[in-house]
Amino acid sequence: MPLRSLPRANSTTMASPLPPCTAVIYSALAIVALLLLSATAVNASQGDKEPVYQDCVTQCVRTNCTGARLRGFQSTQAPYMALTGWTCRDDCRYQCMWQTVGLYQAEGYSIPQFHGKWPFARFLCFEEPASALASLLNGLACLLMLLRYRSSVPRQSPMYYTITAFSLVSLNAWFWSTVFHTRDTYLTEKMDYFCASAVILYSIYLCCVRTLGLKRPGVSSMVGVLLILAFTSHVSYLTFVSFDYGYNMAANATIGIVNLLWWLCWCWQNRRTLPYWWKCGVVVVLLHGLALLELLDFPPLFWVLDAHAVWHLSTVPVHFLFYSFLIDDSLHLLNTEKTGVKLE
Ligand SMILES: [Zn+2]
Repeated sequence: MPLRSLPRANSTTMASPLPPCTAVIYSALAIVALLLLSATAVNASQGDKEPVYQDCVTQCVRTNCTGARLRGFQSTQAPYMALTGWTCRDDCRYQCMWQTVGLYQAEGYSIPQFHGKWPFARFLCFEEPASALASLLNGLACLLMLLRYRSSVPRQSPMYYTITAFSLVSLNAWFWSTVFHTRDTYLTEKMDYFCASAVILYSIYLCCVRTLGLKRPGVSSMVGVLLILAFTSHVSYLTFVSFDYGYNMAANATIGIVNLLWWLCWCWQNRRTLPYWWKCGVVVVLLHGLALLELLDFPPLFWVLDAHAVWHLSTVPVHFLFYSFLIDDSLHLLNTEKTGVKLE
């Protein structure tokens, strides 16, 4: 998930109600600036602009991707490669990418990117095997914890259906992230980005329902409608006007920071009454802090493990703590509702 386009920010220790929020805001603004800078850097793709690469692709396509040679390629191509849309031209690009990388290494130059990506060693049909595997693991962790949530929390808990819906939106995003990292196409890239944005916006809704909506249901309905409008506008702009990576990243980072600050302030306000508040605090700081790993943006180790894959791998354990918080909180809400205690 390209942003995966997730919310990105950081936090500091919480010593008193005002300073921590102020510190978090400053950290968050600094991080948005860093992200915008990195977005500009990532767009530059040295490798595919090289004449040696372009000539190689042209020659390879001319020789191998027409007439009898093309029919030969199609008849010998493994079914899983054909099913995942690998074409003769894609194969040419892949072979020529490694030829160009070899030349760069022989001359002692640093490894270039191609079409906005580092060179990755393909495994079967998986274009970015580590990120695809990590996305799958995130999805499995999410599914496992959703099942545990549903078996631990009675349906009468006020957050039960909102959390179930959030989990389904997250599962959908991890599915598309797995698909995108398996095969990067126009459609899979858009689905990865848009579904990740849906998770970020839904997490705002989840936060709103938990912190305000339980006492004032009208507020959550209004925020829900606003978020649907925001999502529709965001997707329409990226689809019909311009697919602007910098704008997409800035939009996701801004919503992510609102989410982070909102949850942290709620955690701080409830630290004396909710013994499990720290789980929420740790999760939101970890999720936003770990997203900073993407800023490292180094060539893949062993041609497999890049910063994006490390980021996706690092979020797998966070699901367990997050759902542990959701289970504790949902049971707490159910108990307070039963005993008639005022909700926090
Ligand atoms: Zn991703």
